[in-house]
Parts: sequence; C-alpha cells; structure tokens
Amino acid sequence: MAFPEQSQDTPVDELRAELAGELIAPGDPGYDEARQVFFKGIDRRPAAIARVAGADDVARVVGRARESRLEVAVRSGGHSRAGYGTSDGGLVIDLSELKSLDIDADGRTAWVGTGLTAGEYTIATGKQALATGLGDTGSVGIGGITLAGGIGFLTRKNGLTIDDLLAAEVVTADGDVVTASEESEPDLFWAIRGGESNFGVATRLRLRLHQVSEIVGGMLMLPATAEVITGFLEAAEAAPEELSTIANVMLAPPMPFIPEDAHGKPIMIGLMTYVGPADEAEGVIAPFRALAEPIADMVRPMRYPELYEGPEQEARYASGNNFFADSLDSAGPEAILEWLANSTSMMKAVQLRVLGGALERVPNDATAFAHRDRRLFVNIAAMYMDGAEKAAGDAWVAGLGDALGQDGSGGYVGFLGNEDEATIRAAYPGRTWDRLRDLKRRYDPDNLFRLNHNIPPAEG
Ligand SMILES: Cc1cc2nc3c(=O)[nH]c(=O)nc-3n(C[C@H](O)[C@H](O)[C@H](O)COP(=O)(O)OP(=O)(O)OC[C@H]3O[C@@H](n4cnc5c(N)ncnc54)[C@H](O)[C@@H]3O)c2cc1C
Repeated sequence: MAFPEQSQDTPVDELRAELAGELIAPGDPGYDEARQVFFKGIDRRPAAIARVAGADDVARVVGRARESRLEVAVRSGGHSRAGYGTSDGGLVIDLSELKSLDIDADGRTAWVGTGLTAGEYTIATGKQALATGLGDTGSVGIGGITLAGGIGFLTRKNGLTIDDLLAAEVVTADGDVVTASEESEPDLFWAIRGGESNFGVATRLRLRLHQVSEIVGGMLMLPATAEVITGFLEAAEAAPEELSTIANVMLAPPMPFIPEDAHGKPIMIGLMTYVGPADEAEGVIAPFRALAEPIADMVRPMRYPELYEGPEQEARYASGNNFFADSLDSAGPEAILEWLANSTSMMKAVQLRVLGGALERVPNDATAFAHRDRRLFVNIAAMYMDGAEKAAGDAWVAGLGDALGQDGSGGYVGFLGNEDEATIRAAYPGRTWDRLRDLKRRYDPDNLFRLNHNIPPAEG
C-alpha cells in the first residue's frame, strides 16, 4: 500500500519549544543512547526522540508528524524484535518517562504510566501483595506487552494481561486524548487489546490487580529427552490452572549453576508459577520433578516479584518464529532435539507454553487477540552476535516451525518481527482482521501509525 511521502522539513525546533518533555536530536548529548532499543543490532537514526511528559506531549508530536508527514515510532520498553520503537529519519515517541503508578489497593486496580517496565510495575505492586500478569521478562515495557496481549506467569490463572485491562488513555492519530474502555470508545478498546500501536498511543493503562503474595515458583531444569518434553506438556495440561508453565528447550549454556557435565547438552528449563493453596504446591509440582532427575531444582516458596529478579538479558540479533497449536505432534520433541543440535547460533531455544484456564474462558471475539481456543504456544528463537548470521537464523526458525507442523494458522504479534502481510493477517484469525481493518479506517485512515505489525485501513 502507498504511504504518504516524508517531507524534508523536520520540525525539531518547533517541537523542542512546545514539549514539556525533552527532545533529543542528532548532535544532542545522549542521542546515541536515546536511539538504542533492546536488540542492539538495530541501528537507526531518528530525526528526533521525544521523551514525552504525558498525553499532551504525545498529541503535539502526533500533530507535527502529521504536518510534516514524518514516520512515527512509538516506544515503551523498546523490545520489539522488528525495532518498531525506533526509526530512520522519523519521530520517536519515547514513553519511558511515564512512570506514574497510582494503586487503589482496596479497589484492586492501578493507573499505570506506559513507561514502566513489567519488572518495575510488578515490584511496586508486589509491595502490597498485588499483581497483574505480565510476561517472563522484567525489562519488557508494559505498553508494548499489554497492547500485544500479554502471555505470562499468571496466564492460566488470570488470563492475558489484556484480560486485566480495564481502560486506557489513548492519543489517537487526530491528536485527541480519549479514554478507551467497555463504556467509552468500546471499539477502540476492543482493537487495542491485541492491535498494538495501530490505533493510537497508550499513555496510561488502568489494570486490574490480583492478590498474589507468596507463590511457589522458579526454575526446574531437566535433561531434555523426547519423553521428558512430552511428559512435561502432559503434566502442564493436567495441572490445575493455578499453575502456569513456560518451558524452554535448549542446549545448556555454560552457566555457573549448571553442572559442567551438562553444558552443551539438551535441557528443558521449566519456569513454574503456582499461585494456589501452599499446602497443595508440592503435589502439583511433583509430576514434573518425577519426569527425570532434575539438573537443578530452584522451585520454592517465594514472593511473586522474585520471578522478575535476576540478570538483565542482552541480545544483539534475533530470528524468531511463533505459532499457536492444539498440541505438539508425536514427532515434535525429537524434531526439536535434532534441530537444536544442528543450529550454529550462539543461543537458540524452543519455548513451549501450555495455555487454557482463564485465557480460554474469554470468548475469542471479545478482544483483538483471538487465539484463545488454542492449547499450546510455540516460540522458536535463535540469537547471534553477527548480523551476517541472520539468514541462517531465519532459515533455522522457519525450518523447525515446518518440522513441528506449523500450518500458517497464526502466531502472536508480540513475538513477530518484520513480517509480510500474510503473517500479520494470520495473527488476527477469523473475522478479527476485517474488523481491525474497519476500525483502522475509522481511527487512523491515513495510516499514521504504520511502523508496527500493520493493519491497513479498509478501503472504500
Ligand atoms: C526478551 C523478551 C521476552 C519477552 N517475553 C514475553 C512474554 O513472556 N510474554 C509476552 O506476551 N510477550 C513477551 N515478549 C514480547 C513483548 O511483549 C513484545 O515484543 C512487546 O511489544 C514489547 O513491548 P515494549 O514496550 O518493550 O517494546 P517496544 O519496542 O517499545 O514496543 C513494541 C510495539 O508496541 C508498540 N507500543 C509500545 N508501547 C506502546 C504504547 N504505549 N502505545 C501504543 N503502542 C505501543 C510499539 O510501537 C511497537 O510496535 C518478549 C519480548 C522479548 C524481547
């Protein structure tokens, strides 16, 4: 589809004068740091980065971008694998200063600035023994994960992050600041729950909080054989929904807590989160422990926010491929082990998340995330230090997807990279895509917000 051409006039001086927040342009101190995103191999040079101070600032940037026909990048935590949080020559709306957090402990809700990371939010709400389910990585931005859907540690118990989204303050492509909720702008509210940045910039989110204090959780590391992988998935399916698991099958890295004789061998790291009655935890985890002699067993009673404590990850380049399925077919575990052995990437993993529970009790058409009837999420990733390895990484993740029976019925936008329209379309199955395109025409007919997994406005 044709996008409007970019104008040569960059409104840097005008914006600097009218923003309450900081504007960082080429030549300014800190520019090189400010243009960085999580995946360090992404090296783009925006015309300016606006560290906005609130929704009014966002509206000003949106207005200037419209006038000058500049590309707009929206960044919360900067973890987009495609690098959608930065731009070559465009304006970056950097939300990282929006760290407000207003907790209503009695009402179990919070208004949250979208500059908070998942870890910052969880640690802060954890002080009041409250939590909203987010993903497995503390540095991910609460803005990006929520608008993608949010599959994480509490998914089977409480659903996706969007199932706890009660309202959002959104700056639309017209520069209007609106509240989207079931009562106000319900179509917009539907669309942003999975539609990412296509419909506007979320500056604050109202999230439901759940009472979560002591949990039984942490890492269970098992030797990965086909039987263990199959057994793990069966145990995760059979477990009560108070248990959510995220299992990573990989070759053991040379980490100090992994015995040396396991280094380089296939392992399965189960990240376990059990939020049910404490006296039942032992019995719930027992079937996993019984699969094989654990290489490391760190599953223990802990405070929920401890799941987010630990070293920050760093990644240079990554190839990824993900899909939803009903199950892993019987040849799947062997295929994973063979393909892991054949990859030359520095680090590669297949992540398996058994879904169900609260996630599947929400109707598929209630939000723009529409994979609720699928039981398993498969995410394949390869990471490397040299961009020259990208082609091999891309081929590896695609080939393993094929070997696992990936059938094109769709993946999760949160883990997609820079994909073709067919892949993005498949991420919004059934009638979701057409409804999103109709709403895109209503809320962003000129496709100002196009630096994303783009939903083109419906024609006509
Ligand atoms: C190491 C790692 C672990 C992850 N683990 C999980 C996981 O366990 N569960 C899960 O569900 N996902 C997970 N993800 C995927 C992650 O949720 C998405 O990539 C998410 O979009 C990242 O959000 P961000 O704000 O950090 O990134 P950004 O790059 O800032 O934003 C990502 C996208 O969302 C848009 N966006 C961000 N904030 C806003 C906003 N406030 N308003 C409008 N649009 C916005 C951006 O424009 C961009 O298109 C993981 C990603 C990584 C890299």
